[in-house]
Amino acid sequence: MENRCKLCHRKKRENSEYCPYHGKAFDNLREAFERWKRAFDIDWDDYLRQIAENTETGEWARDVAESLM
Ligand SMILES: [Zn+2]
Repeated sequence: MENRCKLCHRKKRENSEYCPYHGKAFDNLREAFERWKRAFDIDWDDYLRQIAENTETGEWARDVAESLM
């Protein structure tokens, strides 16, 4: 089971806890956070909450955000 993504049944990427889809979503989340932090002075937890509550957040990103909260 340790070859599985933390969030779904897919095989995880090397050096990652996630499959390619959730891994990409996680990378995007982290990148976007750097911008948000500068623009809104927001911390990681608040950021994750915003992402999870945003209706325009994609399914992959929401999975990741909710799992990190
Ligand atoms: Zn996954």
